[in-house]
Amino acid sequence: MQSLQSYKIMDEKELKKRIADIRARYKNRLLILAHCYQQDEIVECADFVGDSYALAMQASKNRDAELIVFCGVKFMAEAAAILAGNNRKVFMPDLDAGCPLADCADIDQVEAAWNTLKKLDISKDVVPITYMNSSAELKAFCGKNGGIVCTSSNAKAAMNWSLSQKQKLFFFPDENLGRNTARAGNINVSDIVLWDPLKNHGGCGEKDLANARVILWKGFCHVHTFFTVDHIKSAREKYPECLIAVHPECNEDVVMLSDANGSTSFLKKYVEDAPSGKTIIIGTEINMAHRLGKENPDKNVLPLARSLCPNMFKTSISDLCYVLDNFPVDNEISVPQYIADDARLALERMLNI
Ligand code: SF4
Repeated sequence: MQSLQSYKIMDEKELKKRIADIRARYKNRLLILAHCYQQDEIVECADFVGDSYALAMQASKNRDAELIVFCGVKFMAEAAAILAGNNRKVFMPDLDAGCPLADCADIDQVEAAWNTLKKLDISKDVVPITYMNSSAELKAFCGKNGGIVCTSSNAKAAMNWSLSQKQKLFFFPDENLGRNTARAGNINVSDIVLWDPLKNHGGCGEKDLANARVILWKGFCHVHTFFTVDHIKSAREKYPECLIAVHPECNEDVVMLSDANGSTSFLKKYVEDAPSGKTIIIGTEINMAHRLGKENPDKNVLPLARSLCPNMFKTSISDLCYVLDNFPVDNEISVPQYIADDARLALERMLNI
């Protein structure tokens, strides 16, 4: 077995040839999934490219694939491993690719918050929703407490589903996705409270928690909160006729000033559907924004600002080739059965809405 280091110095042509040979050898027993924020060299080698919802669907429904290589960040590969079940193996080319947003909430913090809601006799009226960008433990927490997972593609549907079950919802870990989705669903600001895990009682008064319809978690994605109102203003000054579309992990003021907001799948379609010759400014991860430009040469697609996700950027074609060439190396993602079973409940509720 060659060392990872030897792949790091290999010529790109040689890496691509090896990957193509392995894909041809394994045929549909191998599935390479890549998130839209991955670098072009990875996207070119993938069987399927999409956002976290689309990739979770692929992992769930593609039953022929015994080996799934997930090019993305850890929470996504964990979700794929949970949905893939016991007979299929999921690998990640770089196990260090995590997500700072997912790290904004851990299971101890969420359980402590839930215990506070229990003591106040509020938890019985609350459905917990975790964003896909969270650990398997938080998905399991939602599974066993009647809750659900959501992605940015279906956050609105997940909120509607939750409020059809009970009077309130507790949304973690991304404040902005929760707030932007709640506001788009006509939930008043006065019905929303923010739980800060670093403060006593989440920084919330008992009355506020009792009256709120939506309890949000104070967590954020640094890649999307990088975009500011000033970026929007200067884009509009420079391109008065432009359309601006951003991801809902952006701050509320940025979302409010944009023309549209939505998941990565939404942004892709938004650009594709725009008239030829139009300038469209995209507020999301830079690799995705650049790719939209390349895929739509009849339009002037520009990034709102240059914001790169360093964790998505960690996976290189050398890492991918190393994993494929050395099945089974120790880059397998596994989730303990007792967590996977509860997490699958919450994931399947999402896939069914
Ligand atoms: Fe996490 Fe944000 Fe990077 Fe997505 S873009 S992986 S949410 S840090």
